[in-house]
Amino acid sequence: MATHHTKMLIIGSGPAGYSAAIYGARAMLEPIVVQGLQPGGQLTITTDVENYPGYRDVVQGPWLMEEMQAQAEHVGTRMMWDTIVEVDIAKGSPFRAIGDSGDEYIGDTLVIATGAQAKWLGVPGEQELGGKGVSACATCDGFFYRGKKVVVIGGGNTAVEEALYLTNHSDDVTLIHRRDELRAEKILQERLFASDKTNTLWNKTVSAFVAGDNGALSHLELTDTVTGERSTLDADGAFVAIGHAPATELFKGKLPMDDGGYLLVQPGTPMTEIPGVFACGDVMDHTYRQAVTAAGTGCMAALDAERFLATLDFAKNEAEAAE
Ligand code: FAD
Ligand code: NAP
Repeated sequence: MATHHTKMLIIGSGPAGYSAAIYGARAMLEPIVVQGLQPGGQLTITTDVENYPGYRDVVQGPWLMEEMQAQAEHVGTRMMWDTIVEVDIAKGSPFRAIGDSGDEYIGDTLVIATGAQAKWLGVPGEQELGGKGVSACATCDGFFYRGKKVVVIGGGNTAVEEALYLTNHSDDVTLIHRRDELRAEKILQERLFASDKTNTLWNKTVSAFVAGDNGALSHLELTDTVTGERSTLDADGAFVAIGHAPATELFKGKLPMDDGGYLLVQPGTPMTEIPGVFACGDVMDHTYRQAVTAAGTGCMAALDAERFLATLDFAKNEAEAAE
């Protein structure tokens, strides 16, 4: 089993991790990215990406992430195909992480970019119709359903915000919720109920997403949670908005998190409460959750890591001069 040492250890290979790597490499920090089970992150499971700046035409998510990886490698990042299973960060820099392979990673700084995964309903048709009518991100995919009939599943802030966002593209937006009241903030509820483009189906769960002859979503099978009655609802697009789960299991009891399990950082920065440990991207952001915001905070993490190391070096030089 090998030990790998770096000035900047990055856990996660989505837009946040790769952006941190690009900045870290250009600052001569010789970063190591441990890629995890999903090299390239969430964008590798989508098709069209139309809102990442720099491309006038639609690009494919997997292609975009291959480009980001190649860019990070080109400037000097080392990629490790491994998954971190344990971290030891309480004692401060250097930080230690153990990979599934048994390899040990030592980082003078640690950038956590493990992302978040959308929760899914786990019903028939859901995964098969991903990218063909079923999505977990209206901001990402809503544009593709212009003028079409769409539904949103969920009753929290995300679901209501997704439904309201979709009214920019569609006049026929149905929110499907399993209870008879929403969990979302009142102000969002008021906006939802005030819109003449939305309606709400109460006490319904989705039992299945069903494809039409063209292989894309044609309708949903619903079950009434009170009466048990079955029904169907036609839809071209369905957005599952029942929450996200940040990948923070590794850091439980080691770093502060909010109620949803997202890592807490100092407001407006990627700094965690442990100096030298930074969190960026979806793992610390339950509000925006976009590739571009993940990339932006990845950049911030790398710049702050560089400053942290410069401060450490300065303190070391001062101590040596005083001896
Ligand atoms: P992620 O992309 O989630 O990457 C997390 C990384 O961490 C992965 O590489 C994973 O392997 C790694 N990891 C996790 N745990 C470990 C571990 N223990 N050890 C090592 N590595 C680990 N955003 C847009 O801006 N535009 C879009 O069009 C768009 N479309 C989307 C479509 C879909 C279907 C989905 C699901 C999301 C979409 N998003 C879109 C959102 C966007 O993908 C995310 O906001 C972005 O990927 C977050 O980047 P991230 O780097 O924070 O994390
Ligand atoms: P959430 O608050 O956990 O809401 C999830 C919703 O999905 C709930 O209404 C829940 O129903 C429903 N649900 C969960 N599992 C389901 C299932 N299997 N089948 C059907 N429905 C299911 O998640 P969120 O809306 O993503 O919000 C997460 C956090 O981010 C919250 O703290 C939220 O306030 C915050 N957030 C804030 C903003 C903002 O401030 N603008 C925007 C987005 C998110 P029940 O209600 O019956 O449990």
